[in-house]
Amino acid sequence: MAEREHKHVRVAVIGSGFGGLGAAVRLRRQGITDFVVLERADSVGGTWRDNSYPGCACDVPSHLYSFSFAPNPQWPRNFSGQPHIRAYLERVTDTFGLRPHLRFNSEVHSLRWNGEELHWEVETASGPLTADVVVSATGPLSDPKVPDIPGLDSFPGKVSHSARWDHDYDLRGKRVAMIGTGASAIQIVPAIQPDVERLTLFQRTPPWVLPRADRKISAAEKWLHTKLPVTRAARRGLLWGIRELQVSAFTKRPNELGPIEYLAKNHMKKAVKDPALRAALTPDYRIGCKRILLSNTYYPALAQPNVDVVAAGLKEVRGSTLVGSDGSEAEADAIVFGTGFHVTDMPIAQRVTGADGTTLAEEWKDGMESLRGATAAGFPNFLTIIGPNTGLGNSSMILMIEAQLNYLGDFMRQLDILGGKIALSARPSAVKEWNRKLQQRMERTVWNTGGCDSWYLDANGRNTTVWPGTTSEFKKVTRQVDLAEYEVLRPPRKPVTAPVAAPAEVAA
Ligand SMILES: Cc1cc2nc3c(=O)[nH]c(=O)nc-3n(C[C@H](O)[C@H](O)[C@H](O)COP(=O)(O)OP(=O)(O)OC[C@H]3O[C@@H](n4cnc5c(N)ncnc54)[C@H](O)[C@@H]3O)c2cc1C
Repeated sequence: MAEREHKHVRVAVIGSGFGGLGAAVRLRRQGITDFVVLERADSVGGTWRDNSYPGCACDVPSHLYSFSFAPNPQWPRNFSGQPHIRAYLERVTDTFGLRPHLRFNSEVHSLRWNGEELHWEVETASGPLTADVVVSATGPLSDPKVPDIPGLDSFPGKVSHSARWDHDYDLRGKRVAMIGTGASAIQIVPAIQPDVERLTLFQRTPPWVLPRADRKISAAEKWLHTKLPVTRAARRGLLWGIRELQVSAFTKRPNELGPIEYLAKNHMKKAVKDPALRAALTPDYRIGCKRILLSNTYYPALAQPNVDVVAAGLKEVRGSTLVGSDGSEAEADAIVFGTGFHVTDMPIAQRVTGADGTTLAEEWKDGMESLRGATAAGFPNFLTIIGPNTGLGNSSMILMIEAQLNYLGDFMRQLDILGGKIALSARPSAVKEWNRKLQQRMERTVWNTGGCDSWYLDANGRNTTVWPGTTSEFKKVTRQVDLAEYEVLRPPRKPVTAPVAAPAEVAA
């Protein structure tokens, strides 16, 4: 059998969404070209490649939901759709010369720290390699979660998840059951409702939904943003500033969010005239506790005669009959799960084995913990983009990703300054202190006090996903690596073997 090529790189980046591509740009800008981007799929885009369901779009305005170093004056709408965001990421890949670094169909199966050589041994679907540094950008929302529903195997029709849309299956004229009422579901419902025969929405918890200020960006605006970049920067600055001002209500004064609930209720009232349906759609927790959703078409779609809302979760499936936990039954030809992703149990964590021989998943069995959202104790030279407690409730994740790219940049600089074969490993005490402060701040936030059970919280009820501050604060605390928070590892000294004396000399 031919021996597999074994390559060594300075950096292995995993994933080619906003995070992985951003890391690649940052490395190149720092003059580092000895790196690969390992991607399990066959193209770039991450979230925006995998989510192609009808109606898929961002819910943060495009001029903020894009890289500051790769502005796009041509965004077609305030909230651009998936095809445009995916095309944007393809352009970023070309503009910054990233193609030579991409390794598609290279799912990372395992990562093992080698403490003798101070490098990571990486097993991928396209062969093994070793890397001094690993940047994991596998995404917080990239592995779909389907709940374990008794009897689902007995369903004779089509079963799919919002993040794996089958464009060959035609929903027109079918009886469709939509499971879940999160960000994806509320985009899918109005997009398919006019075409399906019957739509049954299984709603465990109703979301708070606000109007979506979406519109086409005019040719004049695009022209202005192209000719006068300062207008585009001002637009981005305004979008960012408004969201920064909202943060303290989420993190310190949830009661200030009360008037927003009034707006949301009014928004519903305009579209839903049936008081019983309105009651079923009205949340019983503080707005902001779960992600606030934006839509002008969700409530009008739910008010249509071909839609039923089952205000209960899906309990079981009996053949083509779906049974709600309130006992109600609905017939369906197709089930669409809009049930989210593995967020607090990041799948890559099971595949990473650190310095002590334990996996990151084992280390995180009581909850994910990192230092500044990036590094974990016992996992040297391993950085995560969008790691624990870096999520946002109200603004663009690209701002957080860019802050983490600064941290990555400084991490690489520190390795260069220290020189030689070297690794940085987060001190357990630093990780502990960072998380103690985080959790202390978390106590007052709407995510912890708002009376809801959301995907922000892990199985122990701990919030290990959201950042309890402004994006500018996160940028500040990730600008530089504080070496006091790290142990500097150097290769163990090889034992010096004493020359063996000749027998005659011994006798003398
Ligand atoms: C439908 C949807 C809408 C969203 N809208 C917004 C929004 O409006 N605003 C906002 O701020 N955020 C939004 N998000 C969150 C979004 O996930 C982030 O904004 C951002 O796109 C994450 O980028 P990423 O690169 O970290 O992860 P992803 O884009 O998820 O990319 C991860 C990549 O890693 C690859 N990968 C995973 N595991 C492996 C492995 N073992 N080996 C090799 N490759 C692997 C995946 O194939 C994928 O390409 C949305 C998410 C979804 C799902």
